[in-house]
Order: sequence, then C-alpha cells, then structure tokens
Amino acid sequence: TAGQVIRCKAAVAWESGKPLSMEQVEVAPPQKNEVRIKILFTSLCHTDVYFWDVKGQNPLFPRILGHEAGGIVESVGEGVTDLKQGDHVLPIFTGECKECAHCLSEESNLCNLLRINTDRGEMIHDGKSRFSINGKPIYHFLGTSTFSEYTVVHVGQVAKINPKAPLDKVCVLSCGMSTGFGATVNVAKPKKGQSVAIFGLGAVGLAAAEGARVSGASRIIGVDLNPNRFELAKKFGVTEFVNPKDHNKPVQEVIAEMTGGGVDRSVECTGSVQAMMAAFECVHDGWGVAVLVGVPSKDDAFKTHPVNLLNERTLKGTFFGNYKPRTDIPAVVEKYMNKELELDKFITHTVPFSEINKAFELMLAGEGLRCVIRMGE
Ligand code: NAD
Ligand code: ZN
Repeated sequence: TAGQVIRCKAAVAWESGKPLSMEQVEVAPPQKNEVRIKILFTSLCHTDVYFWDVKGQNPLFPRILGHEAGGIVESVGEGVTDLKQGDHVLPIFTGECKECAHCLSEESNLCNLLRINTDRGEMIHDGKSRFSINGKPIYHFLGTSTFSEYTVVHVGQVAKINPKAPLDKVCVLSCGMSTGFGATVNVAKPKKGQSVAIFGLGAVGLAAAEGARVSGASRIIGVDLNPNRFELAKKFGVTEFVNPKDHNKPVQEVIAEMTGGGVDRSVECTGSVQAMMAAFECVHDGWGVAVLVGVPSKDDAFKTHPVNLLNERTLKGTFFGNYKPRTDIPAVVEKYMNKELELDKFITHTVPFSEINKAFELMLAGEGLRCVIRMGE
C-alpha cells in the first residue's frame, strides 16, 4: 500500500452536534516528514466532544476528529528516518520537532512548529488535507484524526513505543492519562504528605489523582458537580469529595475551611472557567500551586484579585502534562509495563468502530471514564 491512496472507513463529523457518519474515505500517501498509521484503537477525550458540538469553539467541518489512539506505522514519507513500517506508535495532539527553542528547553513542551493548534485542518507541509471523499477534502483535527482506520500524521507528533505494550490499553496515554498524571507529577509537583484538590473527576482528573497518590499526597480532595463520579473516584485514591452544589458558599471557601487555609496543590481538569478560578483561589497562601488543564471556551476570561497572587500563590497551566511526546512518552509506557502506573481501571467501556457514537453518548451522559473504540470491527 506504500505510495498508494488507501480507501478505508472513517467516522466523519459533517456538522456540529450531529452523530458521526461512517464513510469510505481516501487517505493519500504521507508526504515529506509524515507518517501513515493504521489505527487499531482510539478513545474519546472531552476535547473531541468540544470541537464536535463547538459550544464556544471555532467550527470547522467536515472533519475527522479523534486524538487519543494507538496504531502501527503503515508507511513513511520522504525524510522520515526514525520510524519505519511496523513500528508501534501513539499519535500525539502536540508535537516535538526537536529543533526549536521550546524543544531545546528543558522546561517547555510547546514546540514552535507542532504545538496544539485546534483551528488548523490541513497538513503543515503543503496546507492540504490527506483525507477526501470523491475528491472533496475532509479536514484534519489536531494533526491526528484518529477516527479513521488510516491517518496521516507529522513525524514530530508520533511517539514510538515498546511493541510489547498492549495498544488497547496504552492508547489512553496518547492524551488523557499522560495529561492528568503529568499535570500533577511534572507541574503541580506535590511533596510527600501534602494535600491536593482535583477539580473534575473525569479520566483526566482521575489520572491527576493517580499522580497525587504516587507522589504520597496525604489528602486528595475530589471536586465535581456529578455525584456519580464520587463512587468511581474511590478506586483512584481520592479520599474526600466536595460537590459545589451541596454548599451555599463558594467551593474555594469550603476547601479552605476543610484544610485550615487551603490545599497545598490543586489541579483543574474541567474546562469550566468558574472551576479554574476556584482551583486557584483554594490553594494555601505562601506556597500553594494551582495547575489548569481543562480546555476553556473561546471567549472565557479568568478573573481573580491580584492580592491572591501577591499572597504567594502560584498559577500554572499545562498541555499534555508538560511531557515532550517523542522524548518522554516511551518511558511513561514503560511505567505501565512495569506496573508503576495503572491504566486498566480508566477503561470503563469498549465499543466496535461501527458504534463510535455510543462513546459520545456515554461522555455526554457523564458515564464511565474512557471508552476505547476497536477499529477492526
Ligand atoms: P470529562 O468530561 O470526562 O470530565 C470532566 C469532569 O468535570 C466531569 O466529571 C464534570 O462533571 C466535571 N465538571 C464540569 N464542570 C465542573 C465544575 N464547574 N466544577 C466541578 N466539576 C466540574 O473530561 P476529560 O476527558 O476528563 O477532560 C477534562 C478536561 O481536560 C477537558 O476540558 C478536556 O478538554 C481537557 N484536556 C486538556 C488537555 C491538556 O493538554 N491541557 C488534554 C486533554 C484534555
Ligand atoms: Zn485529549
């Protein structure tokens, strides 16, 4: 198939909020610095849902969504030397060119060339899409578009992993679980014995809780509006629960009272700007650190009194838990292989590709954590 157009099944979003429709698409061969990947497993992350229902995001249709996945390299384009046919890979929504100032900095994973770009629907090389139906181009999403049996991705957005790693499990490391876990261990960095609040107990938030657990946090306080999340979250080491709806004062005040002035660290994984402000204001003055992970709406604005910062609180944000996708993710996969990191408990549902819309229904209903989609079926 190398060098040829591949015809395969893809789930296409034709317009916002409408169920995806299964189509026969044409996938062009990879061009310079690109890789064509056979996707074996993909899962649904809330970011896909935001750009599908576009409440407060820029619309771009028709589009092939999907960015959390695992697969096998089918063929490589010109100039690709560190990947070959048969390699097991995770496509990643944010890239690493290994040459720009960010890639050369120890502190950043925001590659100048390949950092997350939610508005781009074409490949960087020639500004064209590799997907089409009867000659009509279909837009890419995050450079990954994994809701297709085959996809084309820039080589800088592909992490090569241990071929023994089960792709139906480690696919969730391609976005959500690495993001949440990294947000805690790489960015919030709680010290042993400290308290951590997690806002949003979806898969990303519970991966952040997992990071707090392995860091030796003494208290892990979970905050969510959906009480169904609390039962699930007990399996992830969350020790206390707060539902903002149960209180007639702001949740930051509730947490300050529970903790004698505030938590040592907080990680926000909701996408709600209200929760972001609360996550910042609930950390202890003098040393508290808050980390934002949720993807906000286009017009959101974060507001807090500057005195909250003067009082020696730190506010940070992160994409992909500050991991550099090509350099760091193979080692995170090894952590799973060595049983230092649990993933199986995040996968609460699986469906065949033909039933991908069920994964959307589950997420919209707030049920379960990750739904893995089996592409072969
Ligand atoms: P999810 O929908 O499974 O979980 C989100 C949870 O937040 C839900 O349980 C919901 O009830 C809760 N919630 C919503 N508003 C709240 C509020 N005001 N207060 C308390 N809880 C609230 O989503 P997910 O897949 O776990 O993703 C979480 C967020 O992380 C999303 O915004 C997603 O877009 C974002 N994300 C960011 C990155 C990154 O690199 N920064 C990567 C992946 C996902
Ligand atoms: Zn994601």
